Amino acid sequence: MAQIYNFSAGPAVLPKEVLAQARDEMMNWHGSGMSIMEMSHRGKEFLGIAAEMEADLRELMAIPASYKVLFLQGGAHSQFSMVPMNLLRDKKSADYLNTGIWSQKAIAEAARYCQVDIAASSADRNFTYVPAQDQWRLNKDAAYVHYTSNETIGGVELFWTPETGAVPLVVDMSSHILSRPMDVSKFGIIYAGAQKNIGPAGLTIVIVREDLIGQTIAGTPTMFDYKTHADNDSMYNTPPTYAMYIAGLVFKWLKAKGGLAAMEKTNILKAGLLYEYLDSADFYYSPVARENRSRMNVPFRIKDASLDTVFLDQAKHHGLLQLKGHKLVGGMRASIYNAMPVEGVNALIDFMKDFEKSHG
Ligand SMILES: *Cc1c(COP(=O)(O)O)cnc(C)c1O
Repeated sequence: MAQIYNFSAGPAVLPKEVLAQARDEMMNWHGSGMSIMEMSHRGKEFLGIAAEMEADLRELMAIPASYKVLFLQGGAHSQFSMVPMNLLRDKKSADYLNTGIWSQKAIAEAARYCQVDIAASSADRNFTYVPAQDQWRLNKDAAYVHYTSNETIGGVELFWTPETGAVPLVVDMSSHILSRPMDVSKFGIIYAGAQKNIGPAGLTIVIVREDLIGQTIAGTPTMFDYKTHADNDSMYNTPPTYAMYIAGLVFKWLKAKGGLAAMEKTNILKAGLLYEYLDSADFYYSPVARENRSRMNVPFRIKDASLDTVFLDQAKHHGLLQLKGHKLVGGMRASIYNAMPVEGVNALIDFMKDFEKSHG
């Protein structure tokens, strides 16, 4: 079969080396006679995998000792409710930045528990940029400030960290965690579903400052209390063992590649190639403001939108898969996560050039 490149937004491409290792270890993990999927999560083999995986993630992200790392299920969607349930304490309101569809989902869920104040919104320009911090209205009595640092659907990324003083900063990093170094100490909570830039679906990673744990609102289910998971090393119930194992292999792959600073260099290169081509072509365009263009999710349009279907069809025949934009915004979207090699981006650009020649 010809070379395939998968541009899915999630579940998304994984490193080939990781998939090959998982295949080799599938039936008999390290001489144990068992597949990881068949092992007790409380046995010494899996406890070893879990401990090593957490240590590797802590090293990659330089996570301070005062933070707990939780390996949960329920996706980023569950965090939309767990965040207010755990952080509201005796406060009445929370501040949310509204930069697109994922922000709005988080806002809608939080509004079930408290007054949500919109600190700033980019609705005026159809969510194609991020309002500068000097335009935000922050309430010093808010329980926390929430934002989405990379809007996966809109392709809008924040390259700076908001300043919120003593109010805890909460971020949904689902689609660009591990794409570059981040200063974890600036955040109260970082959460991310694994299926974009980490590993398989089914695992959700939460990094939470210890002093924010243990103050849930009345009625919070046991499973939605961070303390339940923090006190039990994420083994209160059965964790997503196989997804954790694969994520662990991805962390080793990232370390072998030189860590997050090296990843950032490659990601700048890949995104730069694609945006530079989009800007140089008359036939295509990027709808996103330059300073907020995501390095992970690159939405783009053909000026003549009636060509979208032909474009997607032919791209597929050239081994360039899952380029269709989200149904809410249309057009195309190339997700170029850590595991997408530079060759994949170049293959896409070459195809786009040929398509422009034959249809422009
Ligand atoms: C995909 C995504 C989500 C939803 O993740 P689930 O795991 O499906 O709940 C939330 N936020 C962002 C930014 C995403 O990209």
